[in-house]
Amino acid sequence: MEGKKKQIAILGSTGSIGTQALDVISEHSNLFEVEVLTANNNSKLLIEQAIKFKPNTVVIANEEKYKEVNDALFKLGVKVFAGQQSLEEVVEGENIDVVLTALVGYSGLKPTIRAIKAKKTIALANKETLVVAGDLITKLCYENGVKIYPVDSEHSAIFQCLVGETYNPIEKIYLTASGGPFKGKLRADLTNITKTQALKHPNWEMGAKITIDSASLMNKGLEVIEAKWLFNLKAEQINVVVHPQSIIHSAVQFEDGSIKAQLGVPDMKLPIQYALGFPERLKNTFKRFSFIDSPNLTFEKPDLETFRNLQLAYNAMEKGGNTPCILNAANEIAVAAFLKDKIGFLNMSDLIANCMEKITFVSNPTLEDYVATNKETRILANELL
Ligand code: MN
Repeated sequence: MEGKKKQIAILGSTGSIGTQALDVISEHSNLFEVEVLTANNNSKLLIEQAIKFKPNTVVIANEEKYKEVNDALFKLGVKVFAGQQSLEEVVEGENIDVVLTALVGYSGLKPTIRAIKAKKTIALANKETLVVAGDLITKLCYENGVKIYPVDSEHSAIFQCLVGETYNPIEKIYLTASGGPFKGKLRADLTNITKTQALKHPNWEMGAKITIDSASLMNKGLEVIEAKWLFNLKAEQINVVVHPQSIIHSAVQFEDGSIKAQLGVPDMKLPIQYALGFPERLKNTFKRFSFIDSPNLTFEKPDLETFRNLQLAYNAMEKGGNTPCILNAANEIAVAAFLKDKIGFLNMSDLIANCMEKITFVSNPTLEDYVATNKETRILANELL
């Protein structure tokens, strides 16, 4: 490819997606350049990354770490900012072509909105943004002519299946789920599950929040809602299939009954690379899948009775309005509490269901409504703990 390198801003560069995105960028340094890096707390790694990739600007969200980061980077000519406000403003930088949103949870919402308003292409790893405010985000994208390229592996798979199918409606999609570490277990088996057990995902190496979400199937629930907004689907068009080997990353069924799927060994670097490089497929050395070495791909139904979170997410999606925002906020509090040994694994669903019942329903929420719902739900969830 000739011409100017794509300038990338990575929000959340020290997390699992962020570090893998930097691996992709360094393997394709002829195509990509880092313009902005941001981190929450991990100042050490942020400094290391900035020394290696020489971004124009870095932001450390934790203001107490500003001095440490600035002392290390100012002599290299890297601009250093701190705080939540800077994190939101930095995405507007005029040199930025693509903003990779790899923040965790609700915190991704406001920076993503700013990036869309600044007409930046979005590589979306932060699914919660679409869960919380999918209607608002898709509307903003439409108004600003902005494209969202999904980084979530299932959604990247669907996106890849849709290339060349502009005028062919989707009949349904199959979102695949590994089933997580507790696949096949019953409710009675899960009462005393510890966080150490829940943090061991069979196929994917990920951050703590998404790993717990995967164990509880909430991750799949959030992905169902994410898919609704990305691909403009109705609830009945979105099917979840448990596929423990995580080789088929998802599939699309068209109106002639033909199914297209995208396959590969589980490696987040592929969807990251596809989102950054789209529409090109960039040559790489990632591990290749072998049909002969892995002949047994299996499929089963998700167990919605044991893993209530997936059903709760479908309910939230069908009810609409601010309900998915409530689901997400309650889940963030539930996961944090589970990680601190404050509640049991199954209590997470109780807490979420409780909040969905008690928080006031808003049918057509504005951004302010979403902000208020998020805040109220967190307060209520903390009280209910
Ligand atoms: Mn996923």
